[in-house]
Amino acid sequence: MSETGPKIELHVHLEGTVRPEMLLAMGRRNNEALPARTVEGIAELYRFRDFDHFIKVWVLTTHVMRTADDFREVVVDYARRAAEQGAVYLEGIFSPWYRVHRGVPWEEIFTGYADGACEARERFGVEVRLTPDIDRVLPPEAAMDVVRWSSRFVDRGVVGIGLGGPEVGYPPEPYAPVFAAAADAGLAAVPHAGETAGAESVRGALHALGARRIRHGVRALEDPDLVAELVERNIVLDVCPVSNLRTGVVRDLADHPLPALVAAGLRCSLATDDPAMFGTDLEREYAIAAGLGVSLREVFAAGLAGALCDEGTRVRLAAAAARTDWDRVQAAAAAASAAAIAGSPVVSGSVRDGGRGSDGGRGSDGGCGSDGGCGSDGGRDGGADRGSGSGIAVAVDRTGVEQAPSMASTEG
Ligand SMILES: [Zn+2]
Repeated sequence: MSETGPKIELHVHLEGTVRPEMLLAMGRRNNEALPARTVEGIAELYRFRDFDHFIKVWVLTTHVMRTADDFREVVVDYARRAAEQGAVYLEGIFSPWYRVHRGVPWEEIFTGYADGACEARERFGVEVRLTPDIDRVLPPEAAMDVVRWSSRFVDRGVVGIGLGGPEVGYPPEPYAPVFAAAADAGLAAVPHAGETAGAESVRGALHALGARRIRHGVRALEDPDLVAELVERNIVLDVCPVSNLRTGVVRDLADHPLPALVAAGLRCSLATDDPAMFGTDLEREYAIAAGLGVSLREVFAAGLAGALCDEGTRVRLAAAAARTDWDRVQAAAAAASAAAIAGSPVVSGSVRDGGRGSDGGRGSDGGCGSDGGCGSDGGRDGGADRGSGSGIAVAVDRTGVEQAPSMASTEG
């Protein structure tokens, strides 16, 4: 176990975990070109400049993932690294629609991620649940496809539905029917909100979508009434300090609002968001939190409260916390905090619109199927559903997908 204790991570985009080496290997075997041909070139592309660039890079690099084996490998690789840093439970986000738009069958995507979640548990002992993401620029009818496919995999670890993408200008309310359908399917709402937009966005996520948790949510602090409501409803915020720095939500990690959120009575879990792209990992986020004076025992408890797992898993996670020497964990993380905080250069640009988000499920007991093994064939019915609906091209333009190929000239 990590010196900095057991960890529950509820906000990590699986596409944003992919190491440059893996990305290049996938590109080669799938015959998909990347805008860079070396690890250094990919790493340079990953270096955050501004949010538009980030989205373009995200779209340009993630398209190399095409097969169930690719998606499985992404989950397993991240789960291994996270487990080495103490992760015992992860909720992974993925954005299926981007892959479907490029011709990858829905079933390939969901099966691969679900297989990876199962393999991660068997090999590394880390529980992985999945919360597919709806991008805010998708028309609600296209978003409904994400819910439909997610509902077929509730017995294979899909526990919720997220909402992400540019937050400013894309309020959550139009997706209310989509999230109502998700709730009917047993999928909890875990949207992004309160990252680059303020209190109204968080309120919309709570009231229109029935959010079980909020991913980010740091700007809720701007409205004391909203803070009181979040506390009263016991809503957990999945906070990602380095991400907030990279996207310009905060200017300096030393001034991150995490201690203020905790002081206000809000329960905050800690997560990496897009660790490969943002140059972070769980150890670093925990060291930063310890440096800010935040109790890692409480961070774990918040993660446990927010996790969309079955009761058996919850009991096992609680037992892991009970076995932990939290004083020692806190001291170890604090000892690394100065380097963790100083190691993240402040980005000069600020974000123009919100980050990608996703939402998770509610209370489903995901996992590998009723027999606990990886061989479940749940969710494999209805495989005829392919492709995308009408009206999506406009949304694609807004996300920069159509413009993205111009970046191919940035290297080689
Ligand atoms: Zn996110």
